[in-house]
Amino acid sequence: MLRITLPLQNDVAPVPNIRRVAIIGGGFTGATIARLLALHGQYCPHEIVVFEPRAHLGGGLAYDTDDPSLRLNVAAHRMRAVPGDPQAFVRWLSRSGRLERDPGAVANGAIYARRADFAAFMAGQLQPVLDSGTVRHVRERVERICRRYGRWQIEADGGASLQADVVVIATGHPPPMPPGELVCHLRDDPRFIRDPSRPGALQAIGQDDKVFVVGAGLTALDATAALRHRRHRAAITLLSRTGHLPQPQAAGDFAPHGDFLIGVPNTALSLLKQVRFALKEVTEGGLPWQSVFEALRHQGQAIWRTLPLDEQRRVLRHLRRRFEAHRFRMSPQIAELVDSERAAGRLRTCAGRIIAVRPGPAEIVIDIAVRPRGTVERHAAQWVIVATGPGHGNVIGSQSCLAGLERLGLLAEDPRGLGIASDYDSRALARDGYPVEDLFVAGPLARGTFGELTGVPEIAAQAERIVQQILAMSFATTRTITIRSM
Ligand SMILES: Cc1cc2nc3c(=O)[nH]c(=O)nc-3n(C[C@H](O)[C@H](O)[C@H](O)COP(=O)(O)OP(=O)(O)OC[C@H]3O[C@@H](n4cnc5c(N)ncnc54)[C@H](O)[C@@H]3O)c2cc1C
Repeated sequence: MLRITLPLQNDVAPVPNIRRVAIIGGGFTGATIARLLALHGQYCPHEIVVFEPRAHLGGGLAYDTDDPSLRLNVAAHRMRAVPGDPQAFVRWLSRSGRLERDPGAVANGAIYARRADFAAFMAGQLQPVLDSGTVRHVRERVERICRRYGRWQIEADGGASLQADVVVIATGHPPPMPPGELVCHLRDDPRFIRDPSRPGALQAIGQDDKVFVVGAGLTALDATAALRHRRHRAAITLLSRTGHLPQPQAAGDFAPHGDFLIGVPNTALSLLKQVRFALKEVTEGGLPWQSVFEALRHQGQAIWRTLPLDEQRRVLRHLRRRFEAHRFRMSPQIAELVDSERAAGRLRTCAGRIIAVRPGPAEIVIDIAVRPRGTVERHAAQWVIVATGPGHGNVIGSQSCLAGLERLGLLAEDPRGLGIASDYDSRALARDGYPVEDLFVAGPLARGTFGELTGVPEIAAQAERIVQQILAMSFATTRTITIRSM
């Protein structure tokens, strides 16, 4: 590999080096980058193109839904979606009249807005830059990205083909990966729902059909809420390895508790000890345990950076499940639904793993080796839903445009199995381990490097940093060319 830094001609009369930025994916991440680039950039770059098959920018998989039963998992005042204006969403909720029209939004002393409202807020944020023509929305799915004459060539499924100087990959959450046992026996069975977030995925389920859900996290609870909203009344069983459901949000407001950067934990064990100590402190002080997880969230990226790769892997292996059940909490409205459904005996959880699946004409029979003893429990249901959440282990393989970049050696899997490898400047790391100067990885796809990069506030902060880098590249007086031997 050879890196050469050359002077550019624009050091006398500055001319932007970057004419077009292409953003692949227009969910919360891609839309935020496009908007910030348009607002900060003024006359540069000349054009920002967002490829996004959905009708509106800013919603993405997480918020593009018209189901009123689906709410944000986080209180509106904690969403902090707009850098520099953390209360923009709360203000919009009351000014737009959405809050008034949603009496169920307030619970536990905070607003848990509908996800559709957050998508509408984001679409509104993008409208001015779309109207001005600074941002162009191409409603197509990108299939191929390659290099041509020093620029990027992008081709999409509807025939769009253009060149760009910088590409930002913001394709977000990959589809779930169903357990092999289910795929093997139910591959083409119409009663097997591989992705409940797809519009209309739950439509065919009858009110009295029993449902077996694989997964017991927030995606499984979304499916439960959506079914009950459609007056579904039969039994729902949620299967997971531990049988635990996500924890609830705490009532009222509270400050984050704990400083995990003092004494800098550099092993999984020392981090666990610090967390346990902080939890003991809040219990004795009468504070909610959620305050410790808020502190972990705020300091998450700095903590992750202090851990060597082996220790990061250890955290993922031993602490991830417990951490996620406490970090990704359910809204009070969902907690209330879960309580009432469990009390009525209509919602059950089951801890174990699938050992056999037999699709019959009336029902699908599933045998579970139940934890901890391994005894076999038999379940029967009319429908099986996969709600294991996004399959981050197969991000690159799930998209032809990413797989193509990997084949060219310009993209690599994150070594922790958390998405796409990037450096701390969010630049994609090529197969040779060096960053690709004009290829950025944004949003949860870059979690491996940053650790905490799933929630809206952390993504918004990363978006701001990426935009600053693109702007700096725009008026740079030198350019580094990397010659790779692939
Ligand atoms: C169900 C759910 C609920 C959540 N709730 C909250 C919450 O309440 N609070 C919070 O802080 N965080 C929440 N999150 C976290 C969420 O990860 C982030 O808030 C954020 O939405 C991630 O946005 P994204 O744009 O990176 O990904 P996504 O939302 O997945 O969007 C990616 C977009 O890229 C598009 N795309 C994919 N491939 C291509 C391609 N090849 N060409 C063109 N376009 C493509 C897709 O159509 C999609 O719209 C939630 C996440 C999920 C999944």
